[in-house]
Amino acid sequence: NGALTKFWSNADKYLMYTGVPFSPAVIIKAKGTKLYDADGREILDFTSGQMSSLLGHSHPEVVEVVKRYVGELDHLLSNMISPPVVDVAQRLARLLPGDLEKSFFLNTGSESTEAALKMAKCYTGKFEIVAFSASYHGLTQGSGSATYSAGRKNGGPVMPGQISFPAPYPYRSVFRKADGSYDWETELEFGWSMVDRQSVGSLAAFIMEPILSTGGILVPPKGYLKRMVEECKKRGMLVIMDEAQTGVGRTGQMFAFEEDELVPDILCLSKTLGCGLPLASVTTTAEIERGCRQAGLLWLTTHLNDPLTAAVGDKVLEIVERDNIPQKAAERGTQLRDGLLKLQEKYWCIGEVRGRGLFQAIEIISDAKTKAPGPELGQAVSDHALKLGLSCNVVNLPGMGGVFRLAPPVTVTKEEIDVGLGLLDQSFKEVLE
Ligand code: PMP
Repeated sequence: NGALTKFWSNADKYLMYTGVPFSPAVIIKAKGTKLYDADGREILDFTSGQMSSLLGHSHPEVVEVVKRYVGELDHLLSNMISPPVVDVAQRLARLLPGDLEKSFFLNTGSESTEAALKMAKCYTGKFEIVAFSASYHGLTQGSGSATYSAGRKNGGPVMPGQISFPAPYPYRSVFRKADGSYDWETELEFGWSMVDRQSVGSLAAFIMEPILSTGGILVPPKGYLKRMVEECKKRGMLVIMDEAQTGVGRTGQMFAFEEDELVPDILCLSKTLGCGLPLASVTTTAEIERGCRQAGLLWLTTHLNDPLTAAVGDKVLEIVERDNIPQKAAERGTQLRDGLLKLQEKYWCIGEVRGRGLFQAIEIISDAKTKAPGPELGQAVSDHALKLGLSCNVVNLPGMGGVFRLAPPVTVTKEEIDVGLGLLDQSFKEVLE
């Protein structure tokens, strides 16, 4: 139709391309778990926007808070604090284990990891940063230097002192034994021996996602992260946990790191905390705060501790706690996972189903015997699913099959999960025919 043609011609003319082709879907409304396109079609959102809309799009209570604060307390001088900021910081401290109690609030995930890396360097007086080889912590210069799953090329030199560590990837690890078990202890020893050899003796921090998302939904085995934290402690390094996607209930716990009974030194939250609005947090201990202060840390960005988004974060955490969201995510996650395992029995190209809670993925292969990655096939199934009315996301990394990420809002109903699985089934069937 004419309006759509005009829309695309204006988009081509006026929107800058930043490295990702635009989706063919033109969405004009998003509500709950559903998107509505310009042709009036309904699309199930199984990615929660960019993994952010934890409670669905435009959750009524979030809308109410936005309306109230945009009308009476939107934004202040960066050093002015207000009740919603203290409230959300206090709530976070109560929900977090250990001594994690001092927070500040920013806009995006990249900003939160950038700040956390700067804090670690300030506190330790060292500069080397270790991150997983499939990590994603953002795309600004500092956070992007600790990102190995995207965007490393064509941006000039990364920050000095960046070291990568083999990401836990049992499906294809060379430390997977003939009986299918995964010798992660040996892999960890190997990883640390490589770090110790590369380090110039200035190890400041290990930044990690408790489940690597953009890196292909890689779930470390039980005990892995705990051991990792012990190894960091031995070397005097801080542990920065980046829970941009996994935090605030999505994986079945309030914070995914709780699975392994460990406490990081710095926690970064973003996407899910703002439920689709730009909000991120950095939380640490009073001791680390003191050290950073003595070292002269400066972080003063325009939207530091803004009241409007802080009030949203406080409401999101309130709802997540009140409505037992972690438990719901675990229940719906089990339903989704069971459905995906059934699809795996049906379609040879599904190499593995992995994830935790409502954070699941399937890896697509092009050869059932050799497990050769099948990036084109994954993309074709995802493109077709979108046409059928299901929005999912595929990540393609070297040496890995196309990985479908499925992370619907945790408010998704049982019926909607069934509908989504049905559409995925149909998509596989029609693409493979
Ligand atoms: N950390 C993780 C784990 C992420 O998944 C992302 C975004 N994909 C970021 C950081 C960066 O967040 P943002 O895009 O909001 O800057």
